[in-house]
Amino acid sequence: MPASVKPGVVTGKALVDLLQHAKKEGFAIPGVNIVGTNSINACMEAAKKYGGPIMVTFSKGGGQFIAGKAADNSDDAASIAGCVAGAKHVREVAKLYGVPVVLHTDHCQKAWLPWFDGLIEANEEYYKEHGEPLFSSHMLDLSEESLEENIGICKQYMERMAKIDLLLEFELGVTGGEEDGVDNSDVDSSRLYTQPEEVYYAYKELGSVPNAAFTCAASFGNVHGVYAPGNVELKPEILHNTQAYIQEKEGSDDSKPMLFVFHGGSGSDVKDIQYAIEAGVVKMNIDTDTQWAFWDGVREYEATNREYLQGQIGNPDGADKPNKKYYDPRMSLRAGEEAMAARLCQAAEDLKCNGVLN
Ligand SMILES: [Zn+2]
Repeated sequence: MPASVKPGVVTGKALVDLLQHAKKEGFAIPGVNIVGTNSINACMEAAKKYGGPIMVTFSKGGGQFIAGKAADNSDDAASIAGCVAGAKHVREVAKLYGVPVVLHTDHCQKAWLPWFDGLIEANEEYYKEHGEPLFSSHMLDLSEESLEENIGICKQYMERMAKIDLLLEFELGVTGGEEDGVDNSDVDSSRLYTQPEEVYYAYKELGSVPNAAFTCAASFGNVHGVYAPGNVELKPEILHNTQAYIQEKEGSDDSKPMLFVFHGGSGSDVKDIQYAIEAGVVKMNIDTDTQWAFWDGVREYEATNREYLQGQIGNPDGADKPNKKYYDPRMSLRAGEEAMAARLCQAAEDLKCNGVLN
């Protein structure tokens, strides 16, 4: 690992060093959607076990869930407060796990910009006090807008974010499928594949901002959620072609000038994933598979202990035996954490992100 990358939350130059290192060494960091301390802790437990960095990702809905569904969410107040609270939780505990952690937020479309604004304000405040932002990076997904408007708005935010060492993830093209209430499952298939010219346009525009740091979520047939095999045609060669295009235009020595990230990878073939990593993918989002893993852990716990979970008193050992140690919420939630952490260790292996801390 580069000397700048230390255990705990990684921001600014350390984050860029980490991502460049991942690109050079050929691994991608799991970017995991979380909904509370159980899933946050499962992320860090996994990272400690597999010996690599992890990205903890808050969605707008996930942030609201952390604040509590009954909290007033006018003007996204609960979504903002929940993300900030979750980020502070990570900052308090990350060092105890001895792994580098990237704090990130997920898709933000145009209508959700008040949420984004609230997060940037929280970062600016934190920066004043600590000399670094609260989060490491944020995603803006304006891929529903025209290319010019998408990148125009991204550039405005990039200018503000670069001043406080925040990295911007932007999206070009459309990730298919459905996630966090946004449904792209019937979008025209040509829009599922990003063009090299579009990526280069964004690269130039955002790259002109002083101290800019950014990653690109390009579309190459990726889809949110898990679909029956054969329904998704992943074309990672689009990423390879794009890197070659930018290198030629720039006359650069770097054969992979752009840092890519991979959304909608659940259910993808490991060969396709690793081919995408070779094309400069440094992070892959994981949500659907860890959602299932967490549930599957809880499900299995209940199935194994069902007869001890039907009332406060009385089980196969005796009609007067207490069941408290079985229905303590920590038991079922811990089973979920363990299953999620195990799934993440497998993901890290697929992404070659295991054993990379030395
Ligand atoms: Zn996504």
